[in-house]
Amino acid sequence: MIRTMPVIPEVEVCIHCGLCLNQCPTYRLTHLEAASPRGRLYLIEAASHGRLEMSRGVADHLYLCLACRACETACPSGVQYGRVAEVARDAFGPPGRPLQRTVVRFALRHLMPHPGRLRVLAGMIRFFQRSGLAVLAMRLLPRRLRRPVALLPEASARFYAPQADVLPAIGERHTRVAFLSGCAMSLFFAEINEATLRVLRRNGCEVVIPRNQACCGALNIHNGEVASARAMARRNVDAFPTDVDAILTNAAGCGAAMKEYGHLLKDDQDYRERAERFSLLVRDTGEFLAALGLRNSPNATDQVVTYQDPCHLAHGQGVRAQPRALLTAIPGLTLREMAASDRCCGSAGIYNFLQPETSEALLAEKMEAIRATGASVVVAPNPGCMMQLRYGARRFGVPVRIAHLMDLLDEAGA
Ligand code: SF4
Ligand code: SF4
Repeated sequence: MIRTMPVIPEVEVCIHCGLCLNQCPTYRLTHLEAASPRGRLYLIEAASHGRLEMSRGVADHLYLCLACRACETACPSGVQYGRVAEVARDAFGPPGRPLQRTVVRFALRHLMPHPGRLRVLAGMIRFFQRSGLAVLAMRLLPRRLRRPVALLPEASARFYAPQADVLPAIGERHTRVAFLSGCAMSLFFAEINEATLRVLRRNGCEVVIPRNQACCGALNIHNGEVASARAMARRNVDAFPTDVDAILTNAAGCGAAMKEYGHLLKDDQDYRERAERFSLLVRDTGEFLAALGLRNSPNATDQVVTYQDPCHLAHGQGVRAQPRALLTAIPGLTLREMAASDRCCGSAGIYNFLQPETSEALLAEKMEAIRATGASVVVAPNPGCMMQLRYGARRFGVPVRIAHLMDLLDEAGA
C-alpha cells in the first residue's frame, strides 16, 4: 500500500550543486537527472509537499538507486541520502512489479526475521544445487530465467553453528567482543565465519555469540519494510550484551545497518538509549582488528590481491584504510588497486535480482577493472559483493578467487 510521503528534513540540506552526479552509478549509466541523487531528492521533496503524485513511476526512480551511498561521500553539504531513501522507500513499500513486490514483501516479513525458516530455504537451495537440478534448470529454462539461477549463492556444505555461547581467546585474553553470525554469512559462508572466529581468538579476543540474535534487518531497511526492520533491531538490542569492548560483524552491510540502530529506534522510548549504546559498540571485524593490532606475525604469501571496497564499508562506514593495512601486513602479499574500487559492483542486496540490466552493466565494468589488475584474488568483505563477484567471474570468464579479508588473515595464521 502506498502511503503519503512524509516531509524529510534532511532533503532540505541539499544545495543542488550536482557534485554527486558523476559519482552516482545510475546517473553515470543513464545521464538522467531523475536517476541521480539530486533528481531523486527533488522527487521526494515534491511528493512530500503534494506537488507530485505518489505513483509507481516515482517509486521506480527511487528503486533504481543501489543505496550504495557514493553520493554521501561526494556531497559537500552532508546530505545523508541513505537515510532519506529509507524513509522515502518505506512510503512506497517493497520494489518491483506486483508479483515481485508480493514475493519480496513475504520474504522480508516472514523469512528474514526467522533464522529457522531461512535455514530451511538455504537447505532447499543446497538441495537444488547439489542434486543437479540447478544444472538442468540452466539447460532448460528460457534465457531470462537462467540468470536468477546463476546468481544464487552456493550454499555452504554446512551451516554455521557456534560451538559454544562464549569462545575463549587462544592464549592471553586482551579483549571481549560479541559477534553477529549474520544470516547470509551463516547460511552461505559458514567457513568464513569460522575463519573469522579463529583470527579473532588468536588475536586475544574472547568472543560471545548471543543465541537469540536475529538478522540485522538491512535488507528490510533498504526495501521499504522499516517496521519489520525495527522489530529485528529490537531483538538484537535485547540479545547482545553491552558489557563488551565491541559488537563485531564481518559483513559490511550488517555493520552499516547496526551502526544506525540508534537512529532507527530514535522514536522508541523503551529502546532509544540502549540502541544508541549498541550502535556505538558496532565495528567491522577489519576495522576492529586494525585498531587492535595483529598479535601474531602472519606467514608470508606470494599472492597478488586486489581489494573491492564494499559500498556499505567505504561510503557507509568510512572504513577504507584498515582492511588494506591488514592485507599489506601479510609479508609478500602484493596489493594491486583496481580502478574505482569503491564503485558498486551491482549487487546491492536483492538489486541484482530485481534490476538485471543495471546490475549487469555495473558488474561488467567491475570485472574489467579486476581483470586489468592481473590479481589472482579479489578481497571483498561483504557477502553480497562476494556472491555478485563470484557470479561475475564465471559470467565474464575472469580467473580470480573471490575471498573475504578474514580468509586471507586466517590462511596466513594471523
Ligand atoms: S545511493 Fe548510490 S545509486 Fe543511489 S543516488 Fe546515491 S550514488 Fe546514486
Ligand atoms: S552533492 Fe549533495 S548538495 Fe550537491 S546536489 Fe548532491 S546531494 Fe545535493
